[in-house]
Amino acid sequence: MKTAFCMKMFDLATVVLFICLDHTYGSAGNEWAYDGEKGPDHWHLDFPHCGGVRQSPVSIKTDEVIVDSEWLVPFTLKGYDKIQNLTMQLGNNGHTVQVDLMIRGEPVSITGGGLKNVYAAQQFHFHWGKEDQRGSEHDIDGIYFPMEMHIVHYNMKYNNFTEALNKEDGLAVLGFFFEVGRYNHRFDRIIKHFSEISYRDLRTQIETFALRDLLPENLDGYYRYYGSLTTPPCYESVIWSIFYQTIQISEDQLDQFRHKVHENYANETNRDISDDYRPPQCLNRRKIHSSKPVVSIGNVGKNNQTGRTSGSATQISVTLITSLIFLMKLLFIFFW
Ligand SMILES: [Zn+2]
Repeated sequence: MKTAFCMKMFDLATVVLFICLDHTYGSAGNEWAYDGEKGPDHWHLDFPHCGGVRQSPVSIKTDEVIVDSEWLVPFTLKGYDKIQNLTMQLGNNGHTVQVDLMIRGEPVSITGGGLKNVYAAQQFHFHWGKEDQRGSEHDIDGIYFPMEMHIVHYNMKYNNFTEALNKEDGLAVLGFFFEVGRYNHRFDRIIKHFSEISYRDLRTQIETFALRDLLPENLDGYYRYYGSLTTPPCYESVIWSIFYQTIQISEDQLDQFRHKVHENYANETNRDISDDYRPPQCLNRRKIHSSKPVVSIGNVGKNNQTGRTSGSATQISVTLITSLIFLMKLLFIFFW
């Protein structure tokens, strides 16, 4: 049913795209939000690319993923373990908290991972929910996570990030899911500065740390697909890599994301940034590949308010029930 709906949306998106391309780009202003009249359903009106057919995020259905370990080899991270020549600036842009990386000299970069070029790290930011049951942009078999981190890199064959931003091979984003678990002191390097960036457009320089510290230990397992920025102007320029292994963070730490940073300016009524995620977009004709067979996603799951369930335990239960029903059907046919 959902596929059929997406096929219809594909045709509709094409029509909308043509209508919108006839429009003066961005003429109606560039404000956008995660709900209401400026919410994701309306982004394409002001930002025509958001109505395209290579949009992100998407739902990853593991039984439709194509494993290609020859192509999707492990990444090589360069400069991820160094802090020299690197400055980090933490900012609140009203939509997320973002750490901009300012590098003098040798860039922090990624190669391998099936990429044809070298991609330099530019910034990283987060998407999170008001509750544990939601927050990630991508989902695995309908499983959502409380937070997702994106590390944005640009293709160094272009002169800079801005030039790469709208090219079809311009960006490579690494996506990581979070799970509620143990206190993660590595993220306190960011969280402890939230009081300095409580309001929109506030920025502060933070003590530099090695980017590798934030990542899960194992980076060999990941999904790959071609998509877009998940925020306006939604340029279809992103090579996505979504990693299997999750990052642990405590409920208290998540609460700091939920309540310490606001989408409003300092002189306005406080509104939390939380729920800064775009709903999944149609896959259309795209395929999702992976570097190796999926064993499990994280350790612990969560339930989703909207009826979507989450967590590897739930996945296993669904698989067990499906297998049992199949077995019962077989027995029924055999003995009837
Ligand atoms: Zn993002």
